[in-house]
Amino acid sequence: MDASIAIHGGAGTIPAAMLDAAIADEYHAALRNALQAGWNVLAKGGRALDAVTQAVIVLEDDPLFNAARGAVFTSAGTLEMDAAIMSGRGRDAGAVAGICGPKNPILGARIVLEHSGTVLMAGKGAEDFLRGQGIPFMPPEYFFSDRRWRALQLELRRREAGAPDTRSDADRHGTVGAVARDLFGDLAAATSTGGITAKPPGRIGDTPIFGAGTYADNATCAVSATGTGEVFIRYTAAAEIAARIRYGKQSLEQAADEVVAELLRHGGDGGLIAIGPAGLPELPFNSTGMYRGFIGPDGVPHTAVHRDAYRRL
Ligand code: ASP
Repeated sequence: MDASIAIHGGAGTIPAAMLDAAIADEYHAALRNALQAGWNVLAKGGRALDAVTQAVIVLEDDPLFNAARGAVFTSAGTLEMDAAIMSGRGRDAGAVAGICGPKNPILGARIVLEHSGTVLMAGKGAEDFLRGQGIPFMPPEYFFSDRRWRALQLELRRREAGAPDTRSDADRHGTVGAVARDLFGDLAAATSTGGITAKPPGRIGDTPIFGAGTYADNATCAVSATGTGEVFIRYTAAAEIAARIRYGKQSLEQAADEVVAELLRHGGDGGLIAIGPAGLPELPFNSTGMYRGFIGPDGVPHTAVHRDAYRRL
C-alpha cells in the first residue's frame, strides 16, 4: 500500500497578475510545510487521521490562509469558524461549527470525534465542551488580521452603496484542508475555515457538513472542499463523488472532475482535493486558482496556485 497526502489552502487565491514572486514563494513554502507535517506522520507508519490533523494545524497557524489565525470576519465583525475531520475506516467523524476560541478548530473537531459521542457541535455549547479538553484556546486578538478586517470594511461599504460585487476570490473566501491515505490503506479528510467574508452571523458553510465539504470512506474516497459552501451543501459535493465511484463505477479522476464542473454550472465556484484507495490524489478546481499540493509515494512535494502544466496540479 502506498501512502499519499494532498492539501489545499482554499480557492480564494490572489489573481495571478497580482501575486508577486515573493508572496508566491511564501504560499509555496507554507504549503510545503503543511505537506511535510502530514507526510512525516505517514512515512513513519502513522495514521491518515493524524496526518491530516497535523497538515491542517500548520495551515491553521498560518495567517496566509482563511482558517483559525487568518479567519475572515462575519458581517458583524465577529469570527465564526467551522472545522471537520473524518476517518475512512468506520466513518468516524467530528465537526465544530460557528466557534471562536480554540487555537486549532481542527483539534476541536478531533475531540468531538473522539470524546463527545456526537458528530457535529456548534457555537457556545461546543466552545464550553471543548474548554477543559486540553486544547489551547486563544483570545480574539490572536485571530485578528488587518488584511481580513480591511476586506470586511470594503465589503460592508460596497453593500451600503449597492455597488456590484467585484471582489477577487482572495477577498471573499478560502479554507484549508487535507486528505491522506496511510500505509494500512486507511483514508482520512480534514477541513477548516473562517467561511466567507461578511457572512451573516450564524451562517454555517459546507466544511463541517459531512458529504458536502468533508468526507471519508475507505471503499471510495476522502474529500476536502473549498468554495461557495451553499452550493457544495445543496449538491452534496463530496458524497456525489463517492456515489459516482461506488455506483457509477467512475474513476476518482472522472468523478472529481465532473462534480467540480457540475458545481460551477450551479454557481458553485471552488475546488477540492480527493484521494482513493489507490493512486495519486486528484486536485480539480473551477476557480481562478486553488492553493494546493500533494506528496505521492516518492515523498516529493508538489505545490501550485494557478493552472499548472503538470496535469495533476
Ligand atoms: N467553503 C467555505 C465556506 O463556504 C468557504 C471557502 O472555501 O471559500 O464556508
